[in-house]
Amino acid sequence: LTPINALTEEYLRLAYHGLRAKNKDFNTTLVTDLDKSLGKIEVAPQELGRVLLNLFNNAFYATQQKKARLNGQYEPEVKVTTRQLDGSIQIRVRDNGMGIPENVQSKIFQPFFTTKPTGQGTGLGLSLSYDIITKGHGGELEMQSKEDIYTEFIIRLPLKNKEF
Ligand code: ADP
Ligand code: MG
Repeated sequence: LTPINALTEEYLRLAYHGLRAKNKDFNTTLVTDLDKSLGKIEVAPQELGRVLLNLFNNAFYATQQKKARLNGQYEPEVKVTTRQLDGSIQIRVRDNGMGIPENVQSKIFQPFFTTKPTGQGTGLGLSLSYDIITKGHGGELEMQSKEDIYTEFIIRLPLKNKEF
């Protein structure tokens, strides 16, 4: 049984400090809103961790891309929210970065699809994440985005095996 808030915080720290160490100009504000009533559920922690790490890195990257383009007058922010719902728990990762153009949105879960420069992205993160969440855990992974405004990924994991 895995405590989801603790796992989320652990991988958030990993992503944030990793980028911070590599790039002195990295200045994305991190906001967390973690539901204290969130229980432990049956997941494979390294697998969910991989999913989270990729979503966090994608979100931070999107904000830094937008910052590079706008060059001021922009406050990069990533917000991570957890919620205990009736039959599931929800983890949301939202950024106010470059967003995903409508004509690209249907492709992002395909293996090897990437818009990143060679060497910076494999395009495997989201396809792997999708499989881990859906096939591996019986959950759902959804994306909502508006170009230049925001992107949000929503993970839903069933509570079926929850124990306290
Ligand atoms: P990679 O990160 O290696 O490019 P992913 O599978 O993680 O591969 O993501 C695929 C593509 O989806 C990215 O290259 C990018 O175009 C788009 N994408 C994913 N997350 C975001 C985000 N938060 N904001 C904007 N675009 C995103
Ligand atoms: Mg990625």
